Amino acid sequence: MDWVIKNGTVVTAEGTRITDVGIQGERIAALGSDLQGNRVIEAAGHYVFPGFIDAHVHLQMVIGDIVTGDDFATGTVAAACGGTTTVIDFTDNCRGQDLVEWLDKRRGQADGYAAVDYALHLTLADASPNTLRQLPALARAGYASAKLYTTYDGIRLEDREFLTLLAAARDCGMLPMVHTENDHAIAYLTAQLLAQGHTAPRYHAQSRPALVEAEAANRVLILAQLVNSPLYIAHLTCRETLEAVRAARQRGQQVYAETCPQYLFLSQDDYDRPGFEGAKFVLSPPLRDKANWDVLWPALAQGELQVVSTDHCPWSYETQKVRGRDSFARIPNGAPGIETRVPLLFSEGVGKGRLSLQRFVDVCATGPARLFGLYPRKGTIAVGSDADLVIYDPHKEVTLSYRDLHQRVDYCPYEGRTVQGYPRTVLLRGQVIVEDGQFVGRTGQGRLVPRQVKGLQ
Ligand SMILES: [Zn+2]
Repeated sequence: MDWVIKNGTVVTAEGTRITDVGIQGERIAALGSDLQGNRVIEAAGHYVFPGFIDAHVHLQMVIGDIVTGDDFATGTVAAACGGTTTVIDFTDNCRGQDLVEWLDKRRGQADGYAAVDYALHLTLADASPNTLRQLPALARAGYASAKLYTTYDGIRLEDREFLTLLAAARDCGMLPMVHTENDHAIAYLTAQLLAQGHTAPRYHAQSRPALVEAEAANRVLILAQLVNSPLYIAHLTCRETLEAVRAARQRGQQVYAETCPQYLFLSQDDYDRPGFEGAKFVLSPPLRDKANWDVLWPALAQGELQVVSTDHCPWSYETQKVRGRDSFARIPNGAPGIETRVPLLFSEGVGKGRLSLQRFVDVCATGPARLFGLYPRKGTIAVGSDADLVIYDPHKEVTLSYRDLHQRVDYCPYEGRTVQGYPRTVLLRGQVIVEDGQFVGRTGQGRLVPRQVKGLQ
């Protein structure tokens, strides 16, 4: 063996056992006791987790004339330091733009820059003949998922387009992932609030309440039922949308859903922070009433939600969020989180007894790997899988601060919060890329991961 990780507590979605992990080249080559290797990493008293997967990130995303703080180089270093070894971003094309051109463009931004492995969801921004023609070949090339939006100018789809695209994705075996918020309701509520002089960040939450999300989720779920397509609901925040998901499942539909740390740890109360600070928490769908925490945690524990991803989308507070000083509607939507997801989920989930170790690994690694065609190469610890591993110190205490984190942005939504447990050593395909919290890998070592498309085997 090239490497042996000795005496760690190896955790997968199926179980936990103390064993050695042997690595040959880029893959896991053996699991067992007393493995011999050229180099040894001692892991007694530590967990050994599969490299974590963040299935929803926005690196180097452009809106108008501004771009998010993290590009593929910086964002993936931050991901690695937080234990994430695969990220899934988006092609980011808008209506009328060529999907394949954008795929190539986004690959050009990632290849040679990404420090962890990556994949791209195809953004389906129109149902044009050109887009529809491209999908089968893209599916054969391993693009196993697509993103569709019910809101935002330039990417919002009409119901008829939804039906056309969901049917096309179904025929290709692609999983459609949907951002669900009713665009008309947002426009109506925003106009009303602004007309009443309500311009502060807190009104962002009132402009897109839970029902706005749940209505769009329910509608898209029914459209999916009409064309017999599976569906993945992105960033589910609230009881109302979870009820729509439950109803669809009761109708026999194949539905999956993710939530994000911001909906488990933050609430609409954060919009009431002094001055303009609430702008740091302007993201969509917005933060909700705290009562939803008690809905989302059990849903994760019981498997009603399959994935925790971040929707990492960092805008500078000082230079970009300030664009909305006079109107919440002009604050760029999004917040950082690519580096803090795993430590927060471990500390507050496993540490506080809300999630078993198995569910924690499932929602942060195995679940997204299975749904997005990465499993069993990624998302588990098994012979033949990529040697993406996180040696985790369950006792290390870290107080989160944007000053120490590697995310390239001037704030952290969890500033000052102390977490118990943190990644000590992170391996990407058999190479140590993080040691004692420091990135020791190299830019560009991340690769596009070949994916399997369901129904195309
Ligand atoms: Zn997003």
